[in-house]
This record gives sequence, C-alpha cells and structure tokens, in this order.
Amino acid sequence: MNKFIFVSGGVCSSLGKGVAASSIGALLEGRGLNVRMVKCDPYINVDAGTMSPYQHGEVYVTDDGAETDLDLGNYARFTSGHLSKANSITTGQVYESVIRKEREGRYLGRCVQVIPHITDEIKSRIMAVAKEDPDTDVVIVEIGGTVGDIESIPFLETARQMIREAGRANAMSVHLTLIPEVAGGELKTKPTQHSVKAMQEQGIQPDILICRAPVILDEPTRRKIALFTNMENDSVFTSYNISTTIYEIPLIFYEQKLDQVILKKLGVESRHANLKAWKTMMEHFAFRKGTVRIGIVGKYMDLHDAYKSVYEALFHAGLETGVEVELVKIDSARLEGPDDADAILGPSAPDGGVDGILVPGGFGQRGINGMVKAANWARCNTVPYFGVCLGMQIMVIDWGRNVLGWDDADSTEFNQDSKHPVISLLEEQEDVKDYGGTMRLGKWSTVAEPGSRILAAYKEKNITERHRHRYEFSNKYRKEMTESGLYLTAFTPDKSLVECVEWPDHPWGLGVQFHPEFKSKPTAAAPLFREFIAAVRDRKQKGGKEA
Ligand code: GLN
Repeated sequence: MNKFIFVSGGVCSSLGKGVAASSIGALLEGRGLNVRMVKCDPYINVDAGTMSPYQHGEVYVTDDGAETDLDLGNYARFTSGHLSKANSITTGQVYESVIRKEREGRYLGRCVQVIPHITDEIKSRIMAVAKEDPDTDVVIVEIGGTVGDIESIPFLETARQMIREAGRANAMSVHLTLIPEVAGGELKTKPTQHSVKAMQEQGIQPDILICRAPVILDEPTRRKIALFTNMENDSVFTSYNISTTIYEIPLIFYEQKLDQVILKKLGVESRHANLKAWKTMMEHFAFRKGTVRIGIVGKYMDLHDAYKSVYEALFHAGLETGVEVELVKIDSARLEGPDDADAILGPSAPDGGVDGILVPGGFGQRGINGMVKAANWARCNTVPYFGVCLGMQIMVIDWGRNVLGWDDADSTEFNQDSKHPVISLLEEQEDVKDYGGTMRLGKWSTVAEPGSRILAAYKEKNITERHRHRYEFSNKYRKEMTESGLYLTAFTPDKSLVECVEWPDHPWGLGVQFHPEFKSKPTAAAPLFREFIAAVRDRKQKGGKEA
C-alpha cells in the first residue's frame, strides 16, 4: 500500500516548502524507499508555460514536455523519482477536466460541486502518480500557497479526505511555518500556533511541524510549540538559517531524526540510512578553492527564480570542478548602451569583469543586441562562453553579423524582414496560433559528432536532453556557416536540425539548442556546465590567457 505525505505551509510564502518536501524525499530515498513527488498549484493557469518568468520564475520542463512549476526542478535535484506532466496538478487542469466531463454528460445529471467532484478529480490525479509504478512506496504531495488562502482550500480538503481514508498510519501531514525573531532577538511562536489552528479548521491535525527559524529551536521552545499545537514533543523540527547551501538541508533534517520520526509514524520498518552522496557533495562544497565569476547575460535579472535551474547547474558544476561560482547578473539591455562591452565585462570594468559568459534561454526581442554584443566580446577575447537555447541562437546571429558580414542577420522571432534569417521557424510551427504547449518541447535525441567538445563532455555520442523552443538554426545557412569556420557539432538523429554549435580557435565557446540545466544535480552536475566551468577555471589559472 502507498503512503502519502502532504506538505503544506503557513504564516507566509517563500519559506522553502519545496526544498523541505524535496529534502524529505531525499531522506526517504536514502532509507531505500521509492519516492514520488507531486506539486499541487492552486493557480487557475493550466500550466506554467504561458506565465511570465517575472510572475512565476522559470518554467521547468519534464521529459514528456510538460511546462511546470519550478518546484519540480527542486524535486529533480533532490530525488530520483520519475517526473512528468502527471506530477504537476493545477487548479486549471482540475477544473478543465471536470468541466469537460460535465459537458460530456458524465455526471449523469448531478449538480457538479467542489466537494466531491473537484476533490475527487484531485485525488484521482494523485492516485495516478501513486499507481504509475507498482514499486512506489511513498508519494509526497506539496500543496502550493499558504493555509488560509481561498485557492488552496480544495487541495487541503483533498488531503484531509485522503488522510482520513488511508488512516494516519498511511498518510500524514507535514506543516511548515515561520518562527520570526522580534527586536531583542526573541523568537515568537504565536504565528505558528495560528497557522496550525488554520490547519485544524481545515480538518487537518499536522503530524509534523517544520519551523523556519534563525537558529535551531531549543527543547523548551519545541515543547511549548508541541503543547499549543496538539503535537507530540518529538514532532517539532527546525529548518534554521544556514550559510552553506540548501543542499545541506537533508543532512540537517537527518541530524534532527526527521526521517526516523516519519518512518515511525508511517509504520515503516527502520532501515539503514545511506546519505553518502549528500555527504560527499558537502565535502566538495567545503573543498572548493578560488572563485570564478560568470556573467549571466539575460533579460530577467531581477528575479533569481527566473533562471533557477541555470544558476543551480552552475553551482553543481562548481562543486565538481572545485571552484566557487560567483553569479554576475548582467541585464543585456545594459550592453546596448554607449559603453563598449569591455567596459562592462572586461578586467577594466568597475567590478573587475567576468571570467566566463553564459547566455540563458529567453523569448522576445528586448535585449537581444546586448546578448549578441556579449557573445561577440567572448568570442573575440577568447573568454569561455556557454549558450543555452536562445544563447546558442545568439552565437549564430553574432557569427552571421560579424564573421559573415551580414549586418541584418537575425532570428525571425526578432526581425521578420531580415534578409539573413539565420534562425527561423520550423515549418510545422508556421501556422501555430495557440501559444500554450505548442513549442518543440521535452526530451529529444541528439547525436554528437566525433572530435567535438560536446562529445568530450558527455563521453557518449547519443544524448537526450530537454527542449523548449520554437525557432531553429536555419538549414539554408548550414553551408556558409560551416565554410566560414563555425562548427556544427551535434544534430538530431536524422540530421535535420542543428543542436550544437562551437567556435573554432577558442578555449570553450559552445551553444546548445536544448536545456541541459534541467537534468543537473548537486550530486551529478550536467556535463556541459561542468566542462564550461572547468574551462573557465583553467583559463583563469593561466592568468586569463587562452587555455
Ligand atoms: N525564443 C527562442 C525560441 O523560441 C529560444 C527559446 C529558449 O531559449 N528557450 O526558439
């Protein structure tokens, strides 16, 4: 029988519910259990694909091409269970299918209501994940939003019903709250008491509380919280502020025996905990020597979450290559001003400049010329460059404009009238009017050419990575690009699409049409990120000269 853990949050948002849920997943996997993660998002959008990164952070893409909440990225970095469309449940999806069934007459004339019809739909979607793999032991369901929000009520009600139906030995509630510190350094438990009361009003008595607090809570405080919230004394844990990395959180929970208490409550026989990969990762963290500064040149620079997986992948790469990666976030529009690129990126820049450049994915015309300028600067100054999706297209545009001398070289996404559309729409995309879920999405195969950097990174010519884009390297220009020296080093298996370009005579300049960041883990960095950072490190150690 499957066990269920519902993770909810209270007091306020951004307490790290996704990381807490993922850390529990990591710990249970360390105990040998098969864990699956589910995110319930109370918003009415069907998926995150049409949301602005400024609204919602990055769109995380799964193998099957679902455009999901960035929390699925956390799940992928902390746990190893398969993630697909089914693991992301939104209010929009739930209502869409209930309304469709109603239109088809499937409710046999009954009045269709939130309880039971909406909650049944949510339940059946959670059960579908639980049943997908017969070996699944535990399903961890993270409920987005904060208890008390109108929008999350149907999801909490579903949790209540499922805990009741499965019994407390098979289903439990983990609630995350905040313990604020007021002037004088005193920790306040009242918001937590209120938050648990709000859960109780929904009919759910939390089994475990995780309190976000500046420091680890002492025994008297934990007892006091337990007493006021109707909890057992051993069931109050702290997620305290750390100066290391979020990836230490599974170990921090382990020290407090969170996994043992969960296993006991769920009636799972205690097994040996194997957290070796996490401990090794923390050793790598501690042993890093020196810093490399990576300029991320994009357009959503004010919101860290907008390029979350890219930043995480850079961090993972630093763990494996033994350096600290400092993120230098550069709004590409800045490069479109009067200053030349060297004054912003080079050693004479006020902040000392950058050691490598990464241009991440993106959409729309704004800031594009600044990105082209950054790519051009990296190419001409032999500074390592990594282009991800749009970042690869930018390399091709720079090559068209500055090597082949076509001043108007562009992508048809940005300039429909260019005489040199080096990046253009796939034919099958030309008639697409609907903007949700219609791009080249999800897992696709790529074959790397012999002698390429991409092959050296993956050590395997057959590569599968995830895509999310509409435009492609235009095949019309393959000949001229190749003859002028640009390397085209990976293609789809039928060779119809270009997947990777590399600069000649350069320490490391590479762009891929796919998104390798989505598969990077703290315990196993994505190969291209690792090689990019290694190239940056090596060049820096040689005093900034070509490797
Ligand atoms: N806007 C580009 C395209 O649609 C790149 C997309 C991306 O970087 N994810 O092809």
